[in-house]
This record gives sequence, structure tokens and C-alpha cells, in this order.
Amino acid sequence: MSEFSLPQAPLQRLDLPWLRRAGIEGAILRLDLIDPLISGNKWFKLRHHLLAAREAGAPGLISLGGNHSNHLHALAAAGKRFGFASAGLLRGQPQDTPTVRDLQALGMQLHWLGYGGYRARHAPEFWAPWQARYPGWQCIAEGGGGLGGAQGCALIVEQCRAQLATLGWADYDAWWLAVGTGTTLAGLVLAEAGEHPVHGALAVPADHGVPAQIAALAGEAGYRLHDASRGGFARIDPALLSFIDDTERQTAIPLEALYTGKALLALRDEVEAGRFAPGTRLVVLHTGGLQGRRGYL
Ligand SMILES: *Cc1c(COP(=O)(O)O)cnc(C)c1O
Repeated sequence: MSEFSLPQAPLQRLDLPWLRRAGIEGAILRLDLIDPLISGNKWFKLRHHLLAAREAGAPGLISLGGNHSNHLHALAAAGKRFGFASAGLLRGQPQDTPTVRDLQALGMQLHWLGYGGYRARHAPEFWAPWQARYPGWQCIAEGGGGLGGAQGCALIVEQCRAQLATLGWADYDAWWLAVGTGTTLAGLVLAEAGEHPVHGALAVPADHGVPAQIAALAGEAGYRLHDASRGGFARIDPALLSFIDDTERQTAIPLEALYTGKALLALRDEVEAGRFAPGTRLVVLHTGGLQGRRGYL
């Protein structure tokens, strides 16, 4: 199924004054550059679902998300590119955002579930009416989560290792990445199998069940979680925005505020608190998601 093969993400030096001051060598794996439409980590998380849909002869893909959802955006784009119809179940009341307009332009059928309807998404009977309405379609959990999604993300580690020589690195010491559902982190932890620790910067408050979700996929070892949520998912404050602004100017790497910006800011705090020894070689994962920032930046 080479049509779903994953494009190579470039591994680049990450040169920032606060890394340099702490004697830490940084690199960044740019998942944001793999494809103009199928963004970042979402492609890795979707691959398994696309293979399953093709295998089952499913005519379409159906999933859930919010009105800035990177996941639905990637799903709609992948559907269009690979010949699947797509349907999106959206949280809240109908809204007109740049993401929603893209979903429509990509041919996705949209259904607005309200807030109560969306909260029912984990109920056992949730999918039955949608399966009746879209017979044979591939139903994909929120965010493309689950073991299949994590296994797709294991390929991220291969992509990094294949390019270390271009930085003159024989090895690296740890990963740093943003965490939403934890599927991507779980994929890295599974692929590393204890070789290098994986640091997850939680974009969602720690009491939202994400640590348990990660433990279910990847066990308890091989990673550490850090709170990066700054008071709530999608909470944006002036210090965060000015940090993103500075970082974009220093590196020419674009960031968004919900995941990648918060993850890097949490990393700076840890580095400045002396949590990484001088000489550490750190690989930051740029998880993409840049389409979503049109909604608020
Ligand atoms: C979805 C997303 C994440 C979170 O990925 P999980 O696998 O759910 O933890 C991180 N960064 C960006 C940009 C995303 O779009």
C-alpha cells in the first residue's frame, strides 16, 4: 500500500538562545513540512485507519472533532486525496471558521452535534445511528487515537534515526513533544522500548485522563509528563504569544499556540530550571497543526 507511505519529515538543528546558554544541543523533526494538507502527526495517526478502510472496501471515513480540528482537517484531506468520502461530527453549534470552510471545500459532510451530543461520544451506542446512516464507512475515534494510531507514530522514530548523521550526531538523549490524547507519545515510547526517554508536554490539564490513556497504550515506563496546558486546553495568554513570536523570529519555524508553542515554552522552563544536563542532545517533535492557528492568531 505504497500510496499511504509516509513522507520523510526533515530533521533540523534547533538553535535557541536558552538552549545554547544551558549547553543543550537541540534538533527538531519537522512533521509540519511533510504535506501541505495532511498535517503533522495526524498523518501518522491516520495511516492505519486508511489501510483498514481500503482493506474493508469502506466507501468513506467518519470521525469527530472541534471547529479548529487538525484531525478532521487531515482526515478530510486524506479522504479527498485517496478517494474516500468523509463525514465529520462536530462539537457545538454550526460555526464558520477557516477550518470548517476547508472541511467543506474538501467535500466533508458535516454534522453538528451540539455540546451534549458530543459529550456522548464515548457511549457504547454512540456510533450505531452513524453506521446506519453511512453503511460500511470506517468509524475513527476522536483524534485518530488508539493502538493503530500509536503504531503509525512509531515510524516517527525511524525517520529521526535515519537522519541523525546529517546533524553529525551519532545518537540523541531524549524526545520532547506536545501531548493531546497521548497517542503520538505512546507511539514514540513503543518504538523507543526504553532506549531514550520521551518527554511529553501536556496541552490538556493532567486531570483529564490522558496519563491513564497513555499508560493503557504504552505502560508506565519510558516517558515523563510535564504540565504545559497553562490553565486549560486552548487557553492562550500574552506571555505564550510573545514567546511564540520571539521563537518564530529566532528560528524561522512556525508554531501554533495550542500544542507546539506551549510545548516549547514548557521546555524552556524546564531547561532554565536546570532539568537537563549540559551536553544533552534533545530532539523536539514539531507535530504540525499550523492550519488551526488561522482561527486565533
Ligand atoms: C493533535 C495534535 C497533538 C496531539 O497529539 P496526540 O497524539 O493526541 O497526543 C499535538 N500537536 C498538534 C499540532 C496536534 O495537532
